[in-house]
Amino acid sequence: VAPPAPTDACPACGGPLQAGRSAPAAEPGFGEVALLRCTTCGTAVTDAPAAAELYESGDYAPGPPRGARAAAPLLRAFDAQRLRFARELAPPPARLLDVGAGRGRFVAHARARGYDADGIEPSARGVTGARDSYGVALTRAGIDDAQIGPGSVDVVTLWHVLEHLDDPGGALARIHGWLRPGGGLVVGVPNLGSLQARVGGARWFHLDLPRHRTHFTVAGLRAALAGAGFEVVAVHHALAEHNAFGLWQSAVSRATARPSYLFHLLKRNAPWRSRDLAITLLALPLVPVAIVAEVLAGLARRGGTVAVTARAIAPPR
Ligand SMILES: [Zn+2]
Repeated sequence: VAPPAPTDACPACGGPLQAGRSAPAAEPGFGEVALLRCTTCGTAVTDAPAAAELYESGDYAPGPPRGARAAAPLLRAFDAQRLRFARELAPPPARLLDVGAGRGRFVAHARARGYDADGIEPSARGVTGARDSYGVALTRAGIDDAQIGPGSVDVVTLWHVLEHLDDPGGALARIHGWLRPGGGLVVGVPNLGSLQARVGGARWFHLDLPRHRTHFTVAGLRAALAGAGFEVVAVHHALAEHNAFGLWQSAVSRATARPSYLFHLLKRNAPWRSRDLAITLLALPLVPVAIVAEVLAGLARRGGTVAVTARAIAPPR
């Protein structure tokens, strides 16, 4: 059965959708992508077909990114912050499931800190990479086809996954069924209501079109969680992992010919020889400014991405 067309209703809150602006795709050669906007919660929807092959190419191309070794301490700090959110809901040795586990880095991190942690990941390359890089055996499955025992999980982490789904409400309802009553959920998504979404406009780093399907506001995410039977515990706006870089990259993208040039360079997806390289290097001294600005945005509850912690209460509506 095909998922409902995104023109029907807001996938976050069920409100009416109107035609919004269009924005350039994050992948070269993909052109402009139209967006629809919910008049109730402000969440936006990508009005173009999902291109499954984009997960095996471009940003998601094989091979470790440039500078992966140098970034390792930073990645550990990011994982530690994500794990703190999980710990507030269910401390180790709780059963933790990372949904959309990528290459398994977070599962390995959680295991090392005492969790009974596993992960599911739909891409074959993620599963292979997890085995080779971290010795972690992920289950190759998506949310729709994963075989997880009802009520068998204490806490689910859903980190930058929900925005990739056309039916986030259905996914949240399924996850609700995997959790024990009162079990926890940590969900991280880009925040369309953020300062950096405003600064970047159509070139906002975290739009990532057409891979990102649902572009949440906090109001939209709260509505989606409530509809799936979750009670929000906290909304965190000050996140180390994506926010300062997202703001800096969104601002620089207004000056470069190619959006998100440095990001693509690090992912081995853009040429070195480019005028964009000069602009990017000139903008590097602005990184500390972006860090301070994003901290202030977080305090104003307008962080570039948000992490919401929630508990499974009533069954989904
Ligand atoms: Zn809505």
